[in-house]
Amino acid sequence: MISYTEYLWFNTRDKQEFVNVTPRVEEALKKSGIKEGLCLVNAMHITSSIFINDDEEGLHQDFGEWVERLAPYNKAKYRHNLTGEDNADAHLKRTIMGREVVVAITKGKLDFGPWEQIFYGEFDGQRKKRVLVKIIGE
Ligand code: ZN
Repeated sequence: MISYTEYLWFNTRDKQEFVNVTPRVEEALKKSGIKEGLCLVNAMHITSSIFINDDEEGLHQDFGEWVERLAPYNKAKYRHNLTGEDNADAHLKRTIMGREVVVAITKGKLDFGPWEQIFYGEFDGQRKKRVLVKIIGE
């Protein structure tokens, strides 16, 4: 069994942003040389997400508005922010949108459904953050 690890770095311009990371994961898969196996992609920060969905701009706006309704940014509203932080909303948004995805690798490709793409969801950006890509197989 081969194991391959890579860290992807992000520093988004906006506080909240969705980034299609599929090309970077495909690049890591190519470097790994693995043809059959599993690929884990996970956000390493508790205020950002990795999720799979459609690469459609309107849908991304819908996601952004949806998580904002569920957990609006508001420094005074949350107990977590009593610690001096202002990112309680980002922790909650991250939990809704998910920490990681696992994608099967078949014949050297990410074995997606028809419209699936992998996204990095940032909810407390404008600083350096990491995503782990771990690929195992043969
Ligand atoms: Zn926090």
